[in-house]
Formats: sequence, C-alpha cells, structure tokens
Amino acid sequence: MNIILFGPPAAGKGTQAKRLVAERGMVQLSTGDMLRAAIAAGTELGLKVKDILATGGLVSDEIVIDLIKANLPAAEAAGGAIFDGFPRTVAQAEALDGMLGERGAKIDKVVRLKVDEAALVARIEKRFADEGRSDDNPEAYKVRLAAYNAQTAPLLPYYAAQAKLFEVDGMGSVEAVAAHIDAALA
Ligand code: AMP
Repeated sequence: MNIILFGPPAAGKGTQAKRLVAERGMVQLSTGDMLRAAIAAGTELGLKVKDILATGGLVSDEIVIDLIKANLPAAEAAGGAIFDGFPRTVAQAEALDGMLGERGAKIDKVVRLKVDEAALVARIEKRFADEGRSDDNPEAYKVRLAAYNAQTAPLLPYYAAQAKLFEVDGMGSVEAVAAHIDAALA
C-alpha cells in the first residue's frame, strides 16, 4: 500500500509517518528529511538547497522527483511507502503517478491532516524551541505556509477527483490522530 500523508508544515505528518513505519514496516519517504541529510553531509545537492530550505521556499520539482525515484525500489520491497512532504506541487503529483505506474503500482490513499493555522504557529514555536530547526523560525514558517496554500493545497482536488482523499482531524493528541488515520487506512 502506498499512502500520502498530506497537510501543511507542522501538521504532524512526520510523527505519524514514523509511527506507521514502526507498526506496519512501511518505508517513510520524506523529501524534507532527505534534503536535510544532504545538507548535513555537505553534498553538492545539500549546498544547492541549503538557502532554499532556510528561507522556507520550495526546491525544484526535478530535485525532489529524483530523490523519490531513487527510493521507490526499497519502498516497494518493504511493502509500500508513506510519502511525507511529497508531492507538494501538481507537477510532482503527476510525476509520482507516472513513476509508480511504470512499476505497476499506484497511490492507494491520501490522508489529509486537518489543522488550524493558529495551532500550527503554536506547534512551530514549540518545535523551534525543542529542535532548533532553522526553518521553524516565524519568517521562514510564514513562507512555508504560503507555499503550502499556493502550491500544495491545489493537490486536494487532484486526489479528490481520483476518490483517494481521506480527511482526518489532526488537532487532537498524537494517539487520537493516530486512531483517525488508522480508521482512514482500514
Ligand atoms: P519538510 O520537512 O517536509 O517540511 O520540508 C522542509 C523543506 O524542504 C521545505 O520547506 C522545502 O524547502 C523543502 N522540500 C521538502 N519537500 C519538498 C518538495 N516535495 N518539494 C519542494 N521542496 C521540498
């Protein structure tokens, strides 16, 4: 099964993806984690994207599509992928459908975590204090939220039209949200 965890930055996608990995043995494909790893390792890719991540913009579709493509065989071997933070544009979603289609696979479900913006800002402030992620600062977060609203939210009708979209309340505790997700995936 291939699923997309969908929602604005700090909606809880990463936390829930890690839980699904632990419980179901699927593979989490987080383009954000992959880009941060490249930056930490100081690779050519890392140097190229460092400033973009720090300021909250989106890196090019080509970069993230290549990262995902390289990881699809391992995800397939594990029984499926949880896409976290990808796709973020319609072009990425179309490329993902194409890459999976070539392998005789598809996206099965898209689970949208619904959260309100005031709560997100509070979460971001906490995450910034706890983890010190540079793009959790208020200015960069504003850019990330704007990118989500302008470029990523238009994916909702894309997946709704394919009858793959499941909306769940993302405002409760980690356990409560987990229960909603499990119900959507059942
Ligand atoms: P995330 O950890 O998913 O919030 O991603 C952190 C940052 O990585 C984003 O603000 C973007 O700069 C970049 N990024 C991650 N995934 C993508 C993607 N699918 N498309 C474009 N940029 C991305």
